Amino acid sequence: MTVEKNRVVTLEYVLKNDAGEVLDSSAENGELSYIQGAEMMLEGVEKALEGKKAGDQVSVALSAEEAYGEREEDLIATLPRSEFGEEGEIEPGMAFEIQMDDGTSQVFTVISTDGDVVNLDGNHPLAGMNLKFDLKICSVRAATAEELDHGHPHCGGDGCGTCHH
Ligand code: ZN
Repeated sequence: MTVEKNRVVTLEYVLKNDAGEVLDSSAENGELSYIQGAEMMLEGVEKALEGKKAGDQVSVALSAEEAYGEREEDLIATLPRSEFGEEGEIEPGMAFEIQMDDGTSQVFTVISTDGDVVNLDGNHPLAGMNLKFDLKICSVRAATAEELDHGHPHCGGDGCGTCHH
């Protein structure tokens, strides 16, 4: 079975930056499953995998623009500690959903705290980076109606939840 729209693709992956440093991998975090065409996966990766089959290995290089976009300075924020009144200890790595001026909300991650201020960044952690994916297709199968309805794969095809391999 080849990779096509509405099929569940399971991958081994190694993600590297321009310098060849490993940023993420299936060896560390387990295989990755996604539904082709469900807007879960980067478009450039989907394009590279389209028509491939289990056992195929594919390398994809994406510019920052094709991957997670350029970093936006607008998404760097400094807020007074008092804004987080109810939250207790604020530590780097914590994520908060913040209401933007245009009414949408954006997830910001705490970068650091400095006295009474908290420095946050709403950019994707991989924004501004050219990325290289080394991929190996483990399996390809048809998505179930329920999976298509949810827009994500279910382990073994039944039950909602994240796959842990
Ligand atoms: Zn689900």
